[in-house]
Amino acid sequence: MRAQEVLTPTAGLSALPEVEFSRLSQLDPNPLGEKALAIHPEQWKHGETEHFIYHFVDSYVVTPISVEAEFHYRVVAKELQREQPAGDTKSHIYVFERPADWEHFQTLGQLEKWSGGIHSQGSLFILRDRAYKFSANTLGHEIAHLILHRFYSDGIPCWLDEGFAQYVSKGAHASYQRARGYLAKPRSQGIAEQNLIPLAVLMAMTKPPSDRVEIFYDESERLVRLLASSDKTTFLALLDALARHQPFDTAFLRIYAGKFASAAALEEKFRDYAAKDSSVSDPL
Ligand SMILES: [Zn+2]
Repeated sequence: MRAQEVLTPTAGLSALPEVEFSRLSQLDPNPLGEKALAIHPEQWKHGETEHFIYHFVDSYVVTPISVEAEFHYRVVAKELQREQPAGDTKSHIYVFERPADWEHFQTLGQLEKWSGGIHSQGSLFILRDRAYKFSANTLGHEIAHLILHRFYSDGIPCWLDEGFAQYVSKGAHASYQRARGYLAKPRSQGIAEQNLIPLAVLMAMTKPPSDRVEIFYDESERLVRLLASSDKTTFLALLDALARHQPFDTAFLRIYAGKFASAAALEEKFRDYAAKDSSVSDPL
């Protein structure tokens, strides 16, 4: 599809320079990385940008990914008001192109079969073939996880990890498209009250519930949006406390004292907030 290629927002970019594996600035200690590179080892090429190292098959495929990855790094670092020192750890991104290789990798890594991408121990493994474009904010969502992991490597609650990744990537995707001349007005859709998962239940989940995946993502995003949009400094203090594994109620009451009398008051406000559609504010 030659014409489409010419029309892509990243057409005309200079290709990501290829670097020999032995000359990469950092190695990936993740055993899944080694497993990935063992699948048709002759196919893998390597390259790096300021915050990421890429393992890829085709530079046409990886070049726009590398541009988008650095773009999302800036968005997320700004949102978290943190910046990595120069020379700090880079995240590794493995870009598979052949579905058969990806299936082989899923078996080796014992990954969920539905997964088109997986974030594991700070590395990202994705399948992307030339004919397929990432839908909407998928890549930004995964990149947000990588960066959260870098700043909060002991882990944060699942709702916060997924909710933040959705929150930041939806806005970022819109800016990315607008910067390239696309009309983009993302919206965060309201959730009917009877479908809401009670906050205490949502916060106790260590992975998205298989029977309510969509509600889990939407509701987590809405909750992060409510907490982050009212006062950024307070939200970041809460994020730090939850990253040190403090219980939500204790941390929330201390940090949001004067804003909310109790977790029940938050839940009440959240129910109203979650029900309304809202436009996604631009994080840049
Ligand atoms: Zn996710």
